[in-house]
Amino acid sequence: MTDRIWNFSAGPAVLPESVLEEARENLLSLGDTGVGICEHSHRGKPFVAVAEEAEALCRELAGIPDNYKVLFLQGGASTQFGMIPMNFLAKDQTADYLVTGSWSKKAVKEAKLFGNVHTVCSSEDKNFNYIPTDKTYSDSPRYVHFTSNNTIYGTQFASEPAGFSNEAFLVNDSSSDIFCRPIDVSKYGIIYAGAQKNLGPSGVTLVIIRDDLVEQGNSELTSMLQYRTHAASDSMYNTPPTFGIYLMMLVFRWIKANGGLAGMHERNKAKAGKLYEYLDSSSLFQPTADKASRSLMNVCFVTGDADKDAAFLKKADAEGFSALKGHRSVGGMRASIYNAFPSEGVDALISFMKDFEATA
Ligand SMILES: *Cc1c(COP(=O)(O)O)cnc(C)c1O
Repeated sequence: MTDRIWNFSAGPAVLPESVLEEARENLLSLGDTGVGICEHSHRGKPFVAVAEEAEALCRELAGIPDNYKVLFLQGGASTQFGMIPMNFLAKDQTADYLVTGSWSKKAVKEAKLFGNVHTVCSSEDKNFNYIPTDKTYSDSPRYVHFTSNNTIYGTQFASEPAGFSNEAFLVNDSSSDIFCRPIDVSKYGIIYAGAQKNLGPSGVTLVIIRDDLVEQGNSELTSMLQYRTHAASDSMYNTPPTFGIYLMMLVFRWIKANGGLAGMHERNKAKAGKLYEYLDSSSLFQPTADKASRSLMNVCFVTGDADKDAAFLKKADAEGFSALKGHRSVGGMRASIYNAFPSEGVDALISFMKDFEATA
C-alpha cells in the first residue's frame, strides 16, 4: 500500500485512519452480514442500526435537546443556502446575514431569490480577514444567518452572534468547524454542515433543526425540499447517502473515544496554537487573519512574495505536505487542520517551515 502523506486539504479532508481501516473491512462485509456497507438496503436492519447509532451519537456528542431533529440530507451545504430561505423567507420578509466570506455571499445570493436580505456586517473591505464586531440587525428579521468558520480566509467566530430580536432564529453554516468544540445547540434554530470537512465524506449534509421550524416550513415545495419530509421519515424518504452516514457514524465513535467535543477543542487549540505561535515568531511567514479572528481549522499564511510562496509550495509538495496552496482569492498558503488532522503532522509542518525559513 502507498504510504499516506500529510494532507492539508480544505475539503474533502483527512479522516481518522482508524475510521478508514474499519470502513475498508466493512466494504466487503458489514460485520458478519456477508454484505458490504454500500450494498445493504437502507431499509434493512443492519443499515437502520447504523443510521440509528449515527443519530444517537450525534445527539450525545453535541447534547442536542429533544426538540430538535437530526437529518442526514444530500446536496451539500450549498443546497441549504437555498432550502432555508425557500422554506422560511416570504417575499415581504427580511433575513439578516453576517457576511464574512464567499460562502456567506453565496448564501445571501440564494436568499435574495425568495425575500429581502439585510447585511448585518461585512468584512469584505479587508478581503474577509476578520470577524466584524460592529453589527446592525434589522428590526424584525425572520432569521439571522452566519458562517461560523470561514474556510477560505481562516477566520472563525469565537461565539455565536447575539443582540438580535428574539423573534428571529439563528442559522449557522458550520460546514468547516462543526464539532470542533462544544456547542450550545439550544441557541440555534438550524445548524447545517456538509460532512466533507469535519465529519465524513462528501455527499451527506448534517442538518440539526428545531421541531417548530420543521412545522413552519413552506408546505408548497417539492417534497425533497421540505424539512418535514425528511423529519417525518428519519431521513429515509428516499435512498439516503448510506455510505456517508456510515462513515459519519464511525467518525462520531472516534470523536467520542477521543474526549468528545471538549476533547476535540483541546486538541484543536493545541494544534492551531503551536502553528500560530511559530507564524508569529517567523520572520518569513505571516498569518493573514486578524489575530482575534483566527480559525482553529484553517490556518492561512503568506511570505508576502509570490515567488517565495510558490517555491515553498513546490518543496512542501515534494516532501509529502500536500494541498497547502491557499485559495486563489487569498493566495499564499492554507493549512487545514480539522479534527482528524494529527498533531504530529502539525509538528512536521512547523519543522519543515523552520528548515525552509533557515535556507530561504
Ligand atoms: C465547503 C463549504 C461550503 C460548501 O459545501 P458543499 O457541501 O460543497 O455545498 C459551504 N460553506 C462552508 C463554510 C464551507 O466550508
